[in-house]
Amino acid sequence: MKLLEVINLKKAFASRQNDFIRKPELVKAVDDISFAVAPGETLGLVGESGCGKSTVAKLIMRLLSPDSGEVRLDGDNLATLSANKMRAKRREIQMIFQDPYTSLNPRLRAEEIVGEPLVNFGLASGIELMQRVAELFAKVGLADDQRRKFPHEFSGGQRQRLGIARAIALNPKIIVCDEPVSALDVSIQAQIINLMRDLQQEYGLAYLFISHDLAVIEHISHRVAVMYLGRIVELTDTRTLFSNPRHPYTQSLLDSVPTLDRRDARQLVDIEGEVPSANNPPSGCQFHPRCRHALEKCRTDAPALVKVSECHLVACHLHLAAAG
Ligand code: SF4
Repeated sequence: MKLLEVINLKKAFASRQNDFIRKPELVKAVDDISFAVAPGETLGLVGESGCGKSTVAKLIMRLLSPDSGEVRLDGDNLATLSANKMRAKRREIQMIFQDPYTSLNPRLRAEEIVGEPLVNFGLASGIELMQRVAELFAKVGLADDQRRKFPHEFSGGQRQRLGIARAIALNPKIIVCDEPVSALDVSIQAQIINLMRDLQQEYGLAYLFISHDLAVIEHISHRVAVMYLGRIVELTDTRTLFSNPRHPYTQSLLDSVPTLDRRDARQLVDIEGEVPSANNPPSGCQFHPRCRHALEKCRTDAPALVKVSECHLVACHLHLAAAG
């Protein structure tokens, strides 16, 4: 069963150029990606900085318009819904941002921030609104006497709790989480992730969880999609990805993290070679300049993302023949 479907999504941006006579080149930030998220599932989206993860989030939330492709929620194409239907759909999909501070209105008190979606949708007012806000504060572990505070009076972790309270206020089916714990200390990260897992259990929430942090992704995700230069190169369940990665890029990512339980060594670093410029990506398989297994045809032919076993997709010529 599919709750969120992303189908052949593409988005390119014009790169800046000094030479104003030539036409600006297009940078393919998201290059024909497809995936689905089931109800109650967490799909992790992982990759190095600049691989297009956050652009995917913005396209899903319609903060950006795709060049082509579809985003479907419960089967409805969000791009073709009427304004009224889209407004109703908005209740079902919410977002949590990396830096809650910049996404919270500094002039509003915490209770107004959390209650704002309920007011905007005309779902509660007066005493009922205050009761609902009190419930949401309790759900995310914020004390009731913090309701009159402003965002700057909260710690980073508390601000993320506020962002989560606001996100769940409308009882959404799915939350798009763009690096939601990256700005937090490690001990606070664990608390927020545990909170998100508890809320998932309680409400049957689905998450699209975007992060560059493999340890976080492993901890929270049911399945994981690995992105490289705007494309998904591997997608499978979390246990398989971490125990038997098939794409050389995924293998390099895991090799670059000596011990996943060592919190100081969990970043995506030290993969051989530089990340190629998105302005001028390599031909063929875009990973070929960094790949130890590159074949001749890897320089010219881009491998398709294909099934290598049930529920395991890989885009690599090494596995295409086996996949048939
Ligand atoms: Fe390496 Fe070729 Fe596979 Fe790309 S397609 S990951 S270059 S082996």
